Amino acid sequence: MDLTRPIYLDNFSTTPVDPKVVQEMLPYFNEKFGNEGSRTHLYGWEARESVEFARERIAKLIKCNMNELYFTSGATESINLALKGLAYSKKHTKKHIITFNSEHKATIDVCEKLNKDGYIVSYLPVDEYGNIDLDLIKDSITEDTFLLTILHGNNEIGNIYPIKKIGDICKQNNIIFHVDGAQTVGKINIDVNDMNIDLLSFSSHKIYGPKGTGGLYIKKANSQIHLESIIHGGGQENNIRPGTLAVQNIVGFGKACEICQENLENDNRGILGLRNHLMNELKKIIPNIKINGDLKNRLAGNLNVTIPNIKNSSLMMSLRDIAISNGSACTSSLPETSHVLKAIGLSKDLANSSIRFGIGRFNTIDEINYTIEKINETVNKLRIL
Ligand SMILES: *Cc1c(COP(=O)(O)O)cnc(C)c1O
Repeated sequence: MDLTRPIYLDNFSTTPVDPKVVQEMLPYFNEKFGNEGSRTHLYGWEARESVEFARERIAKLIKCNMNELYFTSGATESINLALKGLAYSKKHTKKHIITFNSEHKATIDVCEKLNKDGYIVSYLPVDEYGNIDLDLIKDSITEDTFLLTILHGNNEIGNIYPIKKIGDICKQNNIIFHVDGAQTVGKINIDVNDMNIDLLSFSSHKIYGPKGTGGLYIKKANSQIHLESIIHGGGQENNIRPGTLAVQNIVGFGKACEICQENLENDNRGILGLRNHLMNELKKIIPNIKINGDLKNRLAGNLNVTIPNIKNSSLMMSLRDIAISNGSACTSSLPETSHVLKAIGLSKDLANSSIRFGIGRFNTIDEINYTIEKINETVNKLRIL
């Protein structure tokens, strides 16, 4: 165990790049550095071939065709392109969007922008375990509804949502279905056709690939989908997302997806074992600890807990050699209470006494045992103060 740096237990914010991914990326920095758009020499041809090879690997993971997959800078951009692209297309005239109040900020912020632009957004509630109500979805659909967007796996509390069932409801009601799969692609088996997903946003850096690259799946078979580009330029990616492709990142993204697909069950089994060990030991040390989210429908590596009467900021300050967080990385720089914990009914005090562990592929049992020991010491110290 390397104790020269904090133990990394924040794998829902980002993951280290798998060494096998780094290996595969290296030649693309200073040997095969060509522009994928160059058509007149070997550098361009090999870049293009590598991008298409990556596209094939990623398409295989989510079971789509290669020509349904577009590269972006990450899930945030994919979500922007999907939601704004649909809304701003002249071919869509309806105005109502359904989403949930426990979504990632990327979705909530885009929906708020669309709301300012005249769209009507329903933010459906989740229950105390973070689960959704399918009947409430059905009841919320109006003549004017054209889009439903939900995240597949919640980045803060780990809930996994019943995508296939929601997809069925959308299909029956002629509603376009967008899924934020940033936390599930590569971690849970996804079949975009079987699940009735029309649009799927996901990211490389949550699954041991490089930062700054993501994907957007757009279903070809649904002729109702019309996306207005939000970036204009050189015609790449079918003009849907122009701009020079980040070839080295895309190569890494493809390799990361291949590794995830090959190791999915193994990864999940190991990660779940560590998560349950951490949870069970923490329960012994801290009898009044509360687990947030649903334990049955949950991402393997996620543990979000409330330790009443101990401020998460004090806890994290005292736990300098363990990298954990109070929720979403995108909001933890602001002194703001987690909107997801609020959505499941936690008071401000309890939400600010909550921390999130994100266990990943490279964590070890020694690291978890060390973490348990440190938390025990720290909680006791803070209790006395
Ligand atoms: C990380 C994350 C995003 C944003 O992805 P980026 O690639 O970092 O832009 C969106 N949704 C969820 C659920 C996430 O976990």
